[in-house]
Amino acid sequence: MSNLDRSPAARVLGGPESTTAGPSLELLPGKEVLLGESTRVRRLLPTLGRRLVGAWAFVDHYGPDDVAAAAGMQVAPHPHTGLQTVSWLLEGSVHHRDSLGSDVTFGPGELALMTAGHGIAHSEQSPHEHPRFLHGAQLWVALPDGSRDTAPAFEHHATLPGWTSDGLTATVLMGSFGGATSPGVAYTPLVGVDLALATGADVEVPLEPDFEYGLLASSGSATVEGAPLDRGAMLYLGTGRTSLRLTADEPTRLLLLGGEPFEEQLVMWWNFIGRSGEEIADYAEQWNAESARFGAVVGYDGDRLEAPPLPPVPLKARGRQR
Ligand code: MN
Repeated sequence: MSNLDRSPAARVLGGPESTTAGPSLELLPGKEVLLGESTRVRRLLPTLGRRLVGAWAFVDHYGPDDVAAAAGMQVAPHPHTGLQTVSWLLEGSVHHRDSLGSDVTFGPGELALMTAGHGIAHSEQSPHEHPRFLHGAQLWVALPDGSRDTAPAFEHHATLPGWTSDGLTATVLMGSFGGATSPGVAYTPLVGVDLALATGADVEVPLEPDFEYGLLASSGSATVEGAPLDRGAMLYLGTGRTSLRLTADEPTRLLLLGGEPFEEQLVMWWNFIGRSGEEIADYAEQWNAESARFGAVVGYDGDRLEAPPLPPVPLKARGRQR
């Protein structure tokens, strides 16, 4: 999806001071954000106190929404730079088109991974005929400086690796987890895993001590190292853990996101990630001028999203972000 906010705040993200040294159990309750006229999402990242988890820079959780009598997701063509979008559905379906010519409809359990790199444009829509419920997560991964200008790409993986053990089914979206490795191309050491817990599950899952992690409850609820995690909330877990104990009293879906702490500072504004305010302003100007940097989304019936006005204060990638 897109950041549809017409007056988005600029965010400075990253830097070595933003990582917690050692384990943590910090509740990120998320914030309800209205996207467009009708879609409500819960934004877990960035949040006031926490801007990145590894290279994961943006986490929206939406639904389940009953869209039987509605158009569902309708996001007009918009640009991205310097990031990857990771689209993950628990219910529903989404039709993705982009300026590379990709034209793909994906559903639950499938990975739609778009590398914006130098620049791309895409649209996302519920197909005309769609399932009753729409439920998923929209995630962004920041690209490191050496890769952020890479050529854009789109990957659709209809099946993903994973494993089942003791009431837990793990599906690996990005990176490696418990011996299973996603085919999705990543540019920094990171992981994204869907964890489906059966009623009564009591499991210990392996973590990388060098990674920091966040854990989102997409549906149901769980106890995480003794701490409650309710649907729609996220726990920041810090670093230095080699395992994590999870229990559930109901069928529960969790999304585990982690990675090596991202040490570069970024500027994130609207749908762009860059390194300076000047760069972001250039991206916005180029998008609004229909620059070849982003290309055009062929087949979309409607207008593009214009970049909103830049904030009056220059965007600077500098300083502590708390
Ligand atoms: Mn988007």
